[in-house]
Amino acid sequence: MPTYTAPVRDTRFVLENVINLPGMAGKPGFEDFDADMILPILEEAGRFFAEVVAPTNFPSDRQGCTRNDDGSVTTPDGFKELYAKVLESGWTTLAMPAEHGGQGLPGVLGFAVEEYFTSANMAFAMYFGLTSGAVEAIELRGSEEQRELYLPKMSSGEWSGTMNLTEPHCGTDLGLLRTRAEPNDDGSYAITGTKIFISSGEHELTDNIVHLVLARTPDAPKGTKGISMFIVPKFIPDADGNPGERNSLSCGSIEEKMGIHANSTCVMNYDGAKGFLIGEENKGLSAMFIMMNAARLWVGLQGFSQAENAYQNGAAYALDRRQGRALTGPKDPGESADMLIVHPDVRRLLMDARARTEGMRALALWVALNGDIAKHATGEDERQAADDMVQLLTPVVKAIGTDIGMRVAQDMQQVWGGHGYIAENGMEQFVRDARITQIYEGANGVQAMDLVGRKLPMHGGRAIQSFFAMVDKDIAAAAGNDKVAELATALEKANGELKAASMWLMQNAAANPNNAGSAAYHYMEILGLVSMGWMWLRSAMAASAALSDGAEDAGFMEAKILTARHFAESHLPEAGALRRKLQAGAETIMAMPAEAFARMG
Ligand SMILES: Cc1cc2nc3c(=O)[nH]c(=O)nc-3n(C[C@H](O)[C@H](O)[C@H](O)COP(=O)(O)OP(=O)(O)OC[C@H]3O[C@@H](n4cnc5c(N)ncnc54)[C@H](O)[C@@H]3O)c2cc1C
Repeated sequence: MPTYTAPVRDTRFVLENVINLPGMAGKPGFEDFDADMILPILEEAGRFFAEVVAPTNFPSDRQGCTRNDDGSVTTPDGFKELYAKVLESGWTTLAMPAEHGGQGLPGVLGFAVEEYFTSANMAFAMYFGLTSGAVEAIELRGSEEQRELYLPKMSSGEWSGTMNLTEPHCGTDLGLLRTRAEPNDDGSYAITGTKIFISSGEHELTDNIVHLVLARTPDAPKGTKGISMFIVPKFIPDADGNPGERNSLSCGSIEEKMGIHANSTCVMNYDGAKGFLIGEENKGLSAMFIMMNAARLWVGLQGFSQAENAYQNGAAYALDRRQGRALTGPKDPGESADMLIVHPDVRRLLMDARARTEGMRALALWVALNGDIAKHATGEDERQAADDMVQLLTPVVKAIGTDIGMRVAQDMQQVWGGHGYIAENGMEQFVRDARITQIYEGANGVQAMDLVGRKLPMHGGRAIQSFFAMVDKDIAAAAGNDKVAELATALEKANGELKAASMWLMQNAAANPNNAGSAAYHYMEILGLVSMGWMWLRSAMAASAALSDGAEDAGFMEAKILTARHFAESHLPEAGALRRKLQAGAETIMAMPAEAFARMG
């Protein structure tokens, strides 16, 4: 069975040395934060999730969830007690607003801790995860009464939240949704329709489940302009705000699926269920976007959290399993064979895994920090600059973070050879669990379209231009530092490819939108490489400074510089090939007649 240790040293390095979280102390939104908190929070949270939650990952996946005849859902053994323990630990309310019972600490710290939780048991963490997005949507768009009624119990985790968008005929294209909302005399609405694939849709872990449901009112315009959002609680709160009358909604079935077996993915039937409008009619999609944006970063985190766990177990195996001899002669002549770690091809997989996982962790934490600044900064320029980075890089963290999750999980399964394919060893679970992250919360291809179609042109390209300026500045600052020179040169080249790709899009996408569509994924991958390469440059600079200052943990710092060098040698050069693929344009792929895609025999 796999084991997990929270990567506290690495998170701390990113927070303290790469993104300078200590420098934020006392600023708006960081009033209750001081630098001395970082280590104890990471250590304690890391210990809790590794010791209390991680051991449940494997058995709960094997057991899965059960729908009972009365429509109730039973989660795996021990989840109810575990849920209570996690609530009691306080780790999930770290960054929730203080006025709703949270601890009011910066979101970036909550995000760092969330990684440990999600590595420990992703399917279980999902029972908590969607609630924070729902809290944000109600906080920003709900009425005063709704905020008072729902937020304290949801922030504390007593009640959980879900998001209900998907219907059988309506996935990416939400304009197709059919769930109806008929006004009742008392100002509420009767919600009728079927939603599918609803994560944590029904379970016994909380006293109430607050479903945020997208539906159409009778006279709503067609398409996405006619969608409204409703709070549809499992139990309608009574006059005292406690769970009251059972609402007419139920779980019709739970999906049999590839992974995250311990999370209940439900078909939810709404049969005239009482719903309460959030915000205005027909403005539901923008409200749901609040929830989806928060959730996109979190899904990116799900990706690299699986990568981290898989990496740890891949590395442990390579240091233990003996097969073959080192190419340069036996390393352990007294043993029947050398350990897997002597083989360059095994090391390639492990170095790739480190470079991808650590690079994405640094990027995601930097974006999360910008999220805090965008929310709280008082200076408009600072707020806007941070918001631009969140907007630009959210699709990258979601899609590239989850591609990394899948890639690393597969590569670490490869390190285990045939034993990685055998269920009882647990490595295949990482592959199964990571896979969904590329699909839900907007499939990764749709993230690429969002990047190219919305985020790049936003404000005349302001976000990508400031991104280029920041990367160029750090490359210039690296001049003269021998330890990072190679990385700085590789990053400069990759950034040049990104600039050329951006220019090509400007010149070729407007005239032929299919060019934007065919180029989008490649573009997102180049931006992913450059933004992670940038984080690697910052990491290598910080590590080399720490070494010059006589760092105690020189081994950690040397490993950082070597991994950065590997990213420069083996990952950044891909930017050139991607740019050339992108510039091929859409002509060939669109030239194939649709019917020719079907095999004729
Ligand atoms: C385990 C699980 C949990 C889920 N949890 C939830 C949940 O809690 N709440 C919820 O509402 N939904 C949930 N979903 C649904 C999930 O978000 C959708 O499956 C996803 O958004 C894609 O929709 P779809 O499956 O209908 O695929 P489709 O929309 O049919 O897309 C199929 C493929 O076509 C591509 N595509 C579609 N449209 C375009 C376009 N315009 N341009 C380019 N490419 C396009 C997509 O990228 C995708 O690769 C969950 C799904 C699963 C499997």
